[in-house]
Amino acid sequence: MSFLVRGLAAGGGIRIVAADTTKLVEEARARHEASPTAAAALGRALSGALLLSHVLLKNPQDRVTLRLRGSGPLGGVIAEAGLDGAVRGYVTNPDIDLPPKDDGKLDVGGALGRNGDIQVIRSHAPYGEPYSSSVDLASGEIAEDIAMFLAQSEQINSAVLLGVYLEAGKVVQSGGIILQALPGADDAALTLLEANIRAFGQLTDAMRQGSLLEILEQLCWGLELKLLTKDALPLKFDCRCSDEKALDALAYFSPAEREQMISEDGGAEAVCHWCGEKRWMAPEAIRSISSDETRCPDCGTLWHREGQATMIREQETCSCGRPVMLPV
Ligand SMILES: [Zn+2]
Ligand SMILES: [Zn+2]
Repeated sequence: MSFLVRGLAAGGGIRIVAADTTKLVEEARARHEASPTAAAALGRALSGALLLSHVLLKNPQDRVTLRLRGSGPLGGVIAEAGLDGAVRGYVTNPDIDLPPKDDGKLDVGGALGRNGDIQVIRSHAPYGEPYSSSVDLASGEIAEDIAMFLAQSEQINSAVLLGVYLEAGKVVQSGGIILQALPGADDAALTLLEANIRAFGQLTDAMRQGSLLEILEQLCWGLELKLLTKDALPLKFDCRCSDEKALDALAYFSPAEREQMISEDGGAEAVCHWCGEKRWMAPEAIRSISSDETRCPDCGTLWHREGQATMIREQETCSCGRPVMLPV
């Protein structure tokens, strides 16, 4: 089982969030049929989003979306997580694979590219505007980028460790740890923490040799680690897609286009980009979509459909530039 623990060290001066995400990252790799390099990028982002949710969110319904976009062949990686331990995510080009770097590590920075940005969006359900902030990529290796984001955007000094290790194309170790200096942290404690981190090595190497708790004890040597989570929080790869949402997406095609899908393919297949789930929509389901709808006379964009929550408001501008006018 994948799980997350939280702790404090140095009398409350250092905050720690750590997660073993091996199971859920392997599920994500399989769902997206990701290459080793793409799986490493996706796994680091999934772990990173889970850690960030415990650093940035307060309300149990809020969610954090972590998006990294770079100039490399991978395109980008996105992950969304909440305090409930559910996370989902995908990479733009899951087939992209690069040769390992000289040190044997997967070349995530090369695949993502070093020019680009890291964006973190906090969404406040069920209402409230999402809050978004972004900074330039530090290296495209994801852990450093998250640390840079936290330093620049949140003014929190953090060490971020993320790792994904594959064997025979499958994820066998994946995890992440954030260690943060809280206001009032003791200088001597931070110096010791930095020395511990420098001496630590690779996270996935350590995960092969010991438990996550043993690793935290090692990183917090001399700093009196105190766990805050009595029981570890279970984590899972979980998407909120449904047959209903897939059908809603089909409503954006015109009735004529939907009939064409039925006559040419006998139905329609929808693939959720978040989780890779494939759904087959039969003719009767497609025909159940209300045809009582209003479209842009210029470009055909769906403005409003009877019974559907998503719509473009009156007096907004259509993507083609025409002002939206809905019938009364
Ligand atoms: Zn999905
Ligand atoms: Zn239009």
